[in-house]
Amino acid sequence: MKKIIAVLLLSVSVMACSGDDEQKTTANVNADQTPVKNVIFLIGDGMGLAQVSKAMQTRDEPLNLEKANYVGLMKTSSSKEVITDSAAGATAFSIGVKTFNGAIGLDGNGRSKKTLLEMLAADGYSTGLIATSGITHATPASFYAHVESREDYYSIAQALVNAPVNLFIGGGEDHFDKRSNEKRGKPDDRNLVKEMEDKGVTLINNLGALEKATGRVGYFTAGQHPESVIKGRGDYLPKSIKPSIDFLQKETKKGFFLVVEGSQIDWGGHANDLNYTMTELYDFDKAVGAAMKFAEKDGNTLVLITADHETGGLTLPTSDIESDEPYSEAGHAYSTIGHTSAMVPVYAYGKGAEKFTGVYENTAIYHKLLSVLGK
Ligand code: MG
Ligand code: ZN
Repeated sequence: MKKIIAVLLLSVSVMACSGDDEQKTTANVNADQTPVKNVIFLIGDGMGLAQVSKAMQTRDEPLNLEKANYVGLMKTSSSKEVITDSAAGATAFSIGVKTFNGAIGLDGNGRSKKTLLEMLAADGYSTGLIATSGITHATPASFYAHVESREDYYSIAQALVNAPVNLFIGGGEDHFDKRSNEKRGKPDDRNLVKEMEDKGVTLINNLGALEKATGRVGYFTAGQHPESVIKGRGDYLPKSIKPSIDFLQKETKKGFFLVVEGSQIDWGGHANDLNYTMTELYDFDKAVGAAMKFAEKDGNTLVLITADHETGGLTLPTSDIESDEPYSEAGHAYSTIGHTSAMVPVYAYGKGAEKFTGVYENTAIYHKLLSVLGK
């Protein structure tokens, strides 16, 4: 009997020790608790698990996403609806509270709240926004504008003129210099492109020009939305990552916050067009690869990749991997032309990545980012 008790006691103490050891080991793994310096936040609009799964199945090479060593799951609802739109989805990331569908940079009561980008800029970070939609579209706008309706391009464009955004790359130039066409606000003949230039913003028309540029820089890639990859947009999204990082680093020693959106993954979902979705997802994944490459070398950078919601209710009911047609009708099915409420994956890579495991709300992204930045 005594022996048994001794053994029991021994095993209890061994368990206690191993508990301590485990703590020590964890502490060692995450020994570097100093704040993350740079954040590259990549948003694949409408990119759910089925979209990522299909992209993996239809390519020989692994996706860059697969290099992310820490993965989480995110709940995407907005303040009033279980199915979010992209405005409320990105606003959850940018201000850390849920808001109503359509709202940009406002809380659920319609009150304007400072965005993460605005806070970091005020703190001396350089900031950048890159999108394959108009730069005034809901996702990028949620980081610098504060309006009740995502359709209010009249006000969103005006907000960008004065926003603390060091660099923007995306479409939407017409909202700045063809304002008499606007359906919202009071259409006017102001030329915000010129007003921006008067304020010292340098407008460039190729990525090479970033090398010499300083101060605030903008690159309009289209009057409205840029084309899809299929229709010939090219690869400015992945190609812009490296020169944008170089530019943002040149602008400050403190660190940078770069938001990159694969905007049209969502539009492929709305169109129930898998080829559209996949070509946009591959383009986005190349941007992820470029961001990871920098983070790997830098050692002080977090790369965070997620979606605002899933689009299309994509399911993969049968195998068409062996088929010559990777997107054959049999291999996939959409269940809606809208968004769904399914959780979306979060992929984290680089410094601070371990903080992004678990199951959490979209608003947690904002709080986790502040935390890893030491704020
Ligand atoms: Mg979007
Ligand atoms: Zn959408």
